[in-house]
Amino acid sequence: MTDTAAVPTVRDVIDALDRRYPREWAESWDRVGMVLGDFEHPVQRVLCVVDCVPETAEEAIAVGADLIVAHHPLLLKPVSSIAPDTYKGRIIHRLIRSDVSLYVAHTNADVADPGVSDALAARLGLRDLRPLVPSESGRGLGRIGVLAPPMDLSELTGFVASRLPATAAGVRSAGDPSLVVRTLAVCGGAGDTFLADAARAGVDAYLCADLRHHPASEHLAGEGPALIDVAHWATERPWLDDVAAWLRGEFGFDVVVSDLDTDPWTLFHKKETLP
Ligand SMILES: [Zn+2]
Repeated sequence: MTDTAAVPTVRDVIDALDRRYPREWAESWDRVGMVLGDFEHPVQRVLCVVDCVPETAEEAIAVGADLIVAHHPLLLKPVSSIAPDTYKGRIIHRLIRSDVSLYVAHTNADVADPGVSDALAARLGLRDLRPLVPSESGRGLGRIGVLAPPMDLSELTGFVASRLPATAAGVRSAGDPSLVVRTLAVCGGAGDTFLADAARAGVDAYLCADLRHHPASEHLAGEGPALIDVAHWATERPWLDDVAAWLRGEFGFDVVVSDLDTDPWTLFHKKETLP
């Protein structure tokens, strides 16, 4: 913006977001940046979401947002149609007709400093942060930090559940419940890929989302760090507060953070063990 009194446009906001989360920092398979909308439209309110789904698109319209800043790409794979009778087509038409633009910062926000895993680490009060997997751009993926005070895995599981947004599936851990955790690695989103990095780093436990049976079992059998598995949405929701606070500071407009739980798992039942 050249005139500080002028209402910023979508282009102004996206230019600033691109400076904080450069698109070239994204993984080659990723699709980030402006997805749809009008670059010249004035922005008076922004909605930050993890997922652009019908519910969060409706939320954007209901709160009067001009722009959605989303973490996950709406269109990651190529499409040959955005017909309004398709799931994504409906979202696209609804947003365009309602004058709501959509912008995505995904793996470029993961490696940024501060990035998605910094916000997750901050929620857990981790100190002395360093990247789990350093990268040439930004700071790298995941963070390792010191848990103060240390707590055993059983306590830590409850602590994580109390600090992160609640989801139906809750928080589950794998490892010795009495293991004292001093150093914790965290990664917002799916973390299977970095199990070996967490083991190499020598942390006491590793927290991420979407851990699968075989990689988790083999990691534990190899005496890797204890594992804490959290709903994907809950690991990335803390970042929305960070990007919202930054946008408010940059532009002074209204930024709403969505608390709509977009985790696909909505029911949980644990079979009671008979005495
Ligand atoms: Zn994610």
